[in-house]
Amino acid sequence: MNSTLIEQAESILKLQGGRMTSQRKLILELLQSMPGHPTAEEIYLAASQYDESLNLSTVYRNLRWLIDLKLVTPLVFDDDRRQERFDAMIDPPQSDHYHFRCQECCQIFEFSAPEVEQFKAQFSDSTGAVVQSASLILYGICADCRELK
Ligand SMILES: [Zn+2]
Ligand SMILES: [Zn+2]
Repeated sequence: MNSTLIEQAESILKLQGGRMTSQRKLILELLQSMPGHPTAEEIYLAASQYDESLNLSTVYRNLRWLIDLKLVTPLVFDDDRRQERFDAMIDPPQSDHYHFRCQECCQIFEFSAPEVEQFKAQFSDSTGAVVQSASLILYGICADCRELK
């Protein structure tokens, strides 16, 4: 079953007795619609066009909340000077995916990798450990940028 980020957040909020504010909703909508794993500043800039009262620390606070709920994963890419980018997990059980970052155009491409799932299973078998998550970031030059050279 596919549900949107907002639906998922709403059902968690209901359980916790919290409420969906318009600012939370706006941040969730932007996370879902903005391409390529935006930074908090990028979300803030886009959000402030709709809601001038929103400030950057509200955006950060809501992102932390979403990370705690496991609806958003923070990612740090090498050349971003430690700046976090935020990845919305639309459907957590199926969404184990990895990233390729082009060093020319800075685009982020997502891919799934059954090999990594196999590796996790093998690792668990041989060590007895439970693997809870994995991250893999590949860096290089994308096909489009290679064409241009
Ligand atoms: Zn991603
Ligand atoms: Zn590229």
